[in-house]
Amino acid sequence: MLKLKNLSKFYYSKGIIASGLNRVNLELFPGEFVVITGESGSGKSTLINVISGLDSYEEGEMYIDGKETSHYTVNDFENYRRSYIANIFQSFNLVSSYTVFQNVELVLLVEGRSRKDVKDKVDAIIDKVGLSSFRNTKVSKLSGGQKQRVAIARALAKETPIIVADEPTGNLDSKSALGIVELLKNVAEDHLVIVVTHNYDQFEDCATRRIKLSDGRIIEDEVLVPRKEAKEIEAVKTTPMSWSNKLQLGFRNTFNIIPKFLLLLLVFLFLSGSVIMQYAGIKANNDAFEGWGYNSFFQNNNDRRVVVKHSDNSEMQEEDYEKLKKTPHFRSLFKDDIILDLSFVTDNSSNLESNEGPKSIYIDAHPAPMEEMPKKLLMGERPKADDEAVIGVYSMMVSEDELKYQLGKTMDITDQSGVKYKIKITGAYYIDKQKNGQDAGTADLTGAGKIFLSDAVLSRARTAQINSISRTEVLINGKKYPLMSSASGGGGQFSLYSSDSVSEGYAIVPEEVDSLYESGSSRWKNLVFSTKNIYFSDSVTLTSIDTYTKNNYKKKLDTEEPFEDVSGRIYVNPKDFDTLFLKGNFQSTVYIDERKNADEAVSWLKKNGYTVVSLAKAKAQFIDTDIMNIITVPLNLVVVIGIFFICYFVIRLILRSRSTYFSTLRLLCLDMKSIKQILDVELIFIINLAYFILIAFIRAVATDLIHISFLKPIFEFLKLSDYIVLYVIMVILAYIISRKFSKKLFKKSAMSTFREEV
Ligand code: ADP
Ligand code: MG
Repeated sequence: MLKLKNLSKFYYSKGIIASGLNRVNLELFPGEFVVITGESGSGKSTLINVISGLDSYEEGEMYIDGKETSHYTVNDFENYRRSYIANIFQSFNLVSSYTVFQNVELVLLVEGRSRKDVKDKVDAIIDKVGLSSFRNTKVSKLSGGQKQRVAIARALAKETPIIVADEPTGNLDSKSALGIVELLKNVAEDHLVIVVTHNYDQFEDCATRRIKLSDGRIIEDEVLVPRKEAKEIEAVKTTPMSWSNKLQLGFRNTFNIIPKFLLLLLVFLFLSGSVIMQYAGIKANNDAFEGWGYNSFFQNNNDRRVVVKHSDNSEMQEEDYEKLKKTPHFRSLFKDDIILDLSFVTDNSSNLESNEGPKSIYIDAHPAPMEEMPKKLLMGERPKADDEAVIGVYSMMVSEDELKYQLGKTMDITDQSGVKYKIKITGAYYIDKQKNGQDAGTADLTGAGKIFLSDAVLSRARTAQINSISRTEVLINGKKYPLMSSASGGGGQFSLYSSDSVSEGYAIVPEEVDSLYESGSSRWKNLVFSTKNIYFSDSVTLTSIDTYTKNNYKKKLDTEEPFEDVSGRIYVNPKDFDTLFLKGNFQSTVYIDERKNADEAVSWLKKNGYTVVSLAKAKAQFIDTDIMNIITVPLNLVVVIGIFFICYFVIRLILRSRSTYFSTLRLLCLDMKSIKQILDVELIFIINLAYFILIAFIRAVATDLIHISFLKPIFEFLKLSDYIVLYVIMVILAYIISRKFSKKLFKKSAMSTFREEV
């Protein structure tokens, strides 16, 4: 039983109090078909809105099932509406982008029923209202009469004991109206039906009770058909909407209105696109500056070079080389990293004489692995003999004519440790004009070229280089003397050199050594040479066999070098020299394909237990990227925030057109939280779609599937971690938008949302 006792409702507007209902007393029973009539403005709508829990009342009492409702909160009324009331409106309040089936189904999904369970029931109800043939037709395509049938079907599906209809035939022609009346009559038996109309004649046949209002008062209340024995009004039991239903609705809403879907997708594409562009821009910028540097320890700062050694400085083994070749983005391996920093330069002192003036060229080149030599050279051919070499130079340093002249000629070349080599140039190419671009650009900012040398030459260079990085001493007459090398800082009176003119086990010394002995001769004396560097230490004891002077050094040592160069050198046999310096290899270089892949290669190598330095990263920088970022990052941030706000307002405009949908959900008694979640699902879904379309596009550009040359270098620097960061940003943006929108929607009460629609 539904009971109103002395119930009054007032409207306050602009300081004027208007009376909506005035001391209404009413008792309504299940099985009744109540028809409410009255002049326009007499309070009919107000009365049934109060009964429906859509509107509040100020005075008096309302009882449902014997429970008093004056203390009810908004939430309580929502539950009340859920359990007792189904509304039918003059303006239908359907979801016009849904089909007939979906509209009826919606109310059951909101009640927490599963889609599978309700299918048969929904079909039966649709059949009952005579719309079976329109089951899958969108509501927007139906006539007014058909729409009202859908509304009745929806009300029936709700299974509440009370059906409230406010002028259900008001918008219909008389024939359609008749059908609606007939339908309502059929459902009246097991419901309490309350109908407002200003055309009583239409309902004359089915009304069991007639109530007339005037000025907010009941002026007539006539029972036309005696009530059957009064059943009790019983609440329907509902459960909260399930997550799978929310997901399904959100998914359905995403694609429901195609233009809306496309527009939202476009906006999100634009938004994520501009965020990613800004972000990638910063990254690409930083990277460009990182590559633009020099390194003071490594001379050969090719930015594709990754230096590798064991963390315990142990020797590199064959299986190490095999493993290194499996490095991601591997291109070539240079085992003896120790000589990679050597530069081989033309020995001008002799070249100027042997070559013809202006046509002699100056070369300054780092050794490079054979695999790095281009298949097609600019001129000449690949080296065959041990003393042959190919050179790579920069086109601005050496002209083609000069190169041509040099081809096939033997040059004197020297490395930093002063070792001289006679090398025949068999081929040449321009590093900066290589087609694949891999050798060009930032590779060697020192301007140094490349030289491809035989293993024999490299092995000689290597021994000398180890000498130069080692601390080597000689014990003469019980006293230690440091030998000159780079590692000893260039100090030291003596230095160690190898010469074939010295027999194994012996040394030829400068005359200064003699003066270190009281006898004035070092002959037959033992000299102990010891060496130590970060990788190993060793010593060898040799016997001094002879002394050279300025007058006899050329003959004794078979050299043409000037005495200034030779003086102070202790000469030993190459085999003894090698005993000290020619050890295993302790450090290698892996060349990768492109500098942007350095991080990946480094982390793989580190994971495999090596100590690693990437030259792409280790370079000292001309411009500190951190300082750059202090300026550029906030600037980019401002741009992104600006774009975000533009997008936010566009999205709000799009969503506003959807507020009808959300207020319909509210009329179906769905709680605020669930509505927010349905909106979240929709937005998150579109965001994901936009995001993955974008990523597909970026990957396509980065991998050259789509050729957009100005975007490629920007996109190349994006890595998985960047995509994840950007994804999180996008989801947060969607969340903010959804929050703001639903907050706005729920500021209004259910009734005012509803009124806006009517
Ligand atoms: P009916 O449905 O019978 O045409 P209503 O119930 O809509 O009448 O209105 C009853 C009275 O209350 C009218 O005088 C109307 O002007 C007033 N009224 C209705 N709604 C409001 C409102 N939101 N604010 C102020 N006055 C209202
Ligand atoms: Mg009205």
